[in-house]
Parts: sequence; structure tokens; C-alpha cells
Amino acid sequence: MSYDYRALGLKSGLEIHQQLDTEEKLFCGCPTLLRDTKDSILEFSRFLRPTQSEMGVIDKAALEEIKLTKKFIYKAYDTTCLVENDEEPPGELNQEAVEYALTIARLLKMNIVDELYTMRKIVIDGSNTSGFQRTGLIATKGFIDSSYGRVGIDVLCLEEEAAQKVEDKGDSVVYSLDRLGIPLVEIGTAPDIVSPAHAREVAEKLGMMLRSTGKVKRGIGTIRQDINISIKEGARVEIKGVQALDMIDIIVEREASRQAALVDIKNQLKVKKAAVSDKIIDVTSVFASSTSKVIQKALKGGVVYAINLPGFAGFAGQEIQPGRRLGTEFSDRAKKSGVGGIFHTDELPNYGITKEEVESLRKAVGAYDADCVIMVADTKDKAKGALEGVILRAHEALTCVPEETRRALPDGNSAYMRPLPGAARMYPETDVPPVVITYERIQKIKLPELIEERIQRYIQQFNLNEELAGQIVRSQNVELFETIMKEVPEANSILVVRVLETLLYELEKEGIPVSNVRETHLFQLFRMQSEGKIPNEAINEVIKNIARQPGFTVENVVSVLGIGAKTGELESAIDKVIDSRMDFIKLKGIDSVGPLMGIVMKELRGKVSGQEINRLLKEKITKRLDIKS
Ligand SMILES: [Zn+2]
Repeated sequence: MSYDYRALGLKSGLEIHQQLDTEEKLFCGCPTLLRDTKDSILEFSRFLRPTQSEMGVIDKAALEEIKLTKKFIYKAYDTTCLVENDEEPPGELNQEAVEYALTIARLLKMNIVDELYTMRKIVIDGSNTSGFQRTGLIATKGFIDSSYGRVGIDVLCLEEEAAQKVEDKGDSVVYSLDRLGIPLVEIGTAPDIVSPAHAREVAEKLGMMLRSTGKVKRGIGTIRQDINISIKEGARVEIKGVQALDMIDIIVEREASRQAALVDIKNQLKVKKAAVSDKIIDVTSVFASSTSKVIQKALKGGVVYAINLPGFAGFAGQEIQPGRRLGTEFSDRAKKSGVGGIFHTDELPNYGITKEEVESLRKAVGAYDADCVIMVADTKDKAKGALEGVILRAHEALTCVPEETRRALPDGNSAYMRPLPGAARMYPETDVPPVVITYERIQKIKLPELIEERIQRYIQQFNLNEELAGQIVRSQNVELFETIMKEVPEANSILVVRVLETLLYELEKEGIPVSNVRETHLFQLFRMQSEGKIPNEAINEVIKNIARQPGFTVENVVSVLGIGAKTGELESAIDKVIDSRMDFIKLKGIDSVGPLMGIVMKELRGKVSGQEINRLLKEKITKRLDIKS
């Protein structure tokens, strides 16, 4: 479905987390290197349970997570130290990371703080061994321009990356410490984004600006986006963990439509005078002889509990995102108590539950046809907790779109994670001294050329089209390209891009050791090509031979391969062709060069470049025609 997003009152903001490409971590000298968990040399575990005094200030989001108290297991490496283990206090702030963060702040035209304070933000999911994440405010109030107008950049923080979750075993979670402490910038935009396409444009532009610095890590997981979305009658929802840029517009679109659908359901439920019965009823006896496998399995030591939602019939089955229903939202909440899911009468009979059982179920909870019954089969505690979650969500369905933190799903939908946290409470990190940021330091920062500016320069300076310029500028080979064009200004820039971006990769796939090809080889190759000494058709063969015999110069290889006919051979071949076709040349004049090229080239079979043949043919024909006239 497509919406008029302005009428819908869509508002969206992005929070971007980008790892910085520093040598060392933010608070210790360990390398910012990701490891294979198999190489872990030490494993230790912790139970993170906030003390009572801390509990007083932890909001409901945190409390919900604590419901399932977990053991956290950490994998340490020979590239991690006691700081990551939280057995030693953090060192001073990594100045390289501060420098990169300041560069980004200036690119985003932000106001930079005078003094950088490191703070503690409580995290209780175990992703940090210390129980909090260290973060420092670098700058506020910047902006970028977009095709829909200016988008404010509210904050930029320099933070430590969390440990990577390796495995969730239910009662314990395994984390890897290699990622913990890698410097990260967090950039939060104002809620100035007005449509799905706009969200993607802003994310792409910020990503481009970050990469332009050349100081950020690249590849999967090095940049993550959280998206805040609300519509006029909806609520602020934060969707976490978006990794693919090309999903951002779809995610915003799906969330706007989810909220619109929930508002619609709320209005319809009002008309139906729907209600929520908070009474949890034991309906185990109804299913005592059920043949449903799910029920049978749960009844081994478990129960079946149910609640009635008067007036809800048909609504649990109503779609709110493609493939996700209001019933899915109920189920998400239930799963927080550790159950596998719920059953609701909009989808029954099914799963081996019979029509007769559904009728008895309705009778047992006193439900009419217009009502929806929700049931859970599991242990007493889990079933009760699950239905309490559903009751809460059903009440919300009657009154509002709930404010939530949701997890992005690969298809662009999202699933419930926890209530939206309140403003994070910060505590000063007394182990890390503040850093004064002087006016002189800010003035000294050199701003990088933006990728989009560089593309325009390449189009102008090297005569590349937009596509090739974009390809090479975004490539890891961009500096090599610049070096080649500087060293060999006469090189054919289009050919250089094709060789660096396509040919070398193709040869590598064929198993050719292209890493043996050195910069100096490439200089020689492109120089000889521009001089007509290597025809384009022979470049592939020349590179293959250099890769296999890196001790050779390009000239060696060319002469061994017999590429480039000796000048004498070329001249005599051309003379022969001209002699035998003088009538044709007289008739056509200089236009005879084209047709004759083909004949000469066939005779020399790619040994000489077309450019060189063309030059010589032109020269000789002009001379002949002059003499004869
Ligand atoms: Zn360390």
C-alpha cells in the first residue's frame, strides 16, 4: 500500500552507529581486530544483576530484560586484555578515535564541546562486562542538506562498541570480547525525515560522508542503523539493528503501515465495544484427551491457560504488516516469558486442535462468537507470564499504538523487543580523565573530499563517465587509481578502471596470483599501452604472465610473448597492403584508412595496437596521396 506520508504525519529520525578504523581500542591498546571464536584462549562467566540501589533508577525496559536472569559467558583472546575483562580500569581516551570523531563532527557542521567527558550508560543485556557502556558527547546541532530540505543532526557521541553476541542458549548468553571497546561514533538525526525514500536518502548520504573520511571500518556489521518512526495518531517506535541500507525505505514504509493498521483496529474495536478480560482461566481439562502434538507435549507437567477478549473476533487474525497480524504482536509479548507462542481462536481449529475442543474452550471461558480466546500451553509460570503479556498488549490495542523498541527482521518487518527506554541515565566515568578540545585543535582538522565531490572531479579530470567514476571512487582501489594517473598521466583512465575493478578480479577467480602484480608493473603496463606498444587485446595475457613471473618487467614479458611487432615488420606489412590497394586508396582518399585497418590487423593478429596501426596507416596514406597529386 502506498500512503500520503505528509497526511499520515510520518516523522522519522536515524541513529547511526559506525565503527572507526583506529589501530587501538577506545580505552586500551588492544587491536581492533575481529577474531574467530575458535581461537579464544579463555572463557569466563558472570551473572549481571543490578544492585537494589541501581534498580531504583532502571526503567521498565531494563526490568523486563531482567525477568529472565541470565548467565553471561565471555570469550577472551590473546588480543584482549584485562580492560575488556573488567578487571582493570579503562585507560585514557584513544586520541586517534577522538580525532576521527572531531573530523566527522566538522563534516556535519556541528557545535563541538569544549571538554569531552566520558560517561557510563547502564546496559544489562551482558554485552559489556562492566555492566555499562562508556560514551562521550562530542558535538551537537549540526545538519545535512537533502532533497526534502535540511535534516538536523542532534548529537554525535564517541562510544565503545559492545561485545558480539555469539550464541543465546536460553538460560545463558555467550559473548565474544574481540569487538568490545572498538571505537564507535553514534550519530542521531532530528526527527526531520518525512518519507521512506527520504529516510534512505539521509542514511545513504550520512554513510557516504562517513566513508569519505577514510577513517571508518568497512564491511558487514561495521555500520548499524536504528530508525525512529511515528505517525500522527501512532507512537514513537525504535527499530533496532538495521544493517542493509537498501532496506531502510521498506522498513519505514512497513512501520508506518503497521501503525496505521493498529490505529484502524483501535477505531474498529471501539465501534464493537471490545474489552479485555484480565482473568486467566485454567482450561487444561478441555484438552485432557487432545490429539494435538503441541498440546500433548505441553501437558506433560504443564497446563493450558486461556483468556477471553470480548469483541476481538477476527482482529487477532488481521494483518498489520505483510505476513504479520495483531495475533503476532500478542505472540511476541507472550514469548518474552519463554513460551513458544500462543493459539488464538481466529486461527482455530488447526494444529491438531479440533472444532469440538474449540467449542468447549469457548464455553469454559464464557466466550461468545464475537469474542477471541487466546490460550497458551506450557508450565504454570510461563503460561501465566505469557498471558499477562498478552493482556497488556490487548489493553494497548484498545487505546493506542504502544511505544516500543523493535527488532528489524530481514524482510523489512519488525518484531517486539521491549518497551521504549526512557532517556538513558548517565553517570560520570571517573576512571577516564576529561579531554579539553581547544579551538586550535578544531581549526587544524583537515576536512576530506566527499565521495560525491570526488566522483565529479574524476568525471572532469579523467573523462570517466558517472558510472565508472562512481565505481572507482567507492572502491578500495581508489588510491591506487590516483597513484597510477599521477605517475602515468597519459594512461587511458577508462582502461585503468577496467583493469583494477574487473580484469584483476576475473583473473584472481581463474586462480592467477594477481597479488604478485606490483604498482610498478601497472605503471609500465599503462605507459606502454598508451604508447601503442601493447594492444588492448593483449593486456589480459601480459598481466597473467607478470603474475606468474613477478621478477619480470612488463617489457620482458611483452618481448617474450612476441607482442608488439618490430617497427620494420609493421611498416612492411602496411606498405604491402597499401601497394596492393592503391586504386582503392586513390578512390577513397583518407577514408580508406578504416577498411584497410581491418586487413592490417588481421595480418598482425593482435601483436600491435589498433591505435598504432591507425597512426601509421594515416601517415603513410597521406604521404602517398601527396606524392601522387
Ligand atoms: Zn584491551
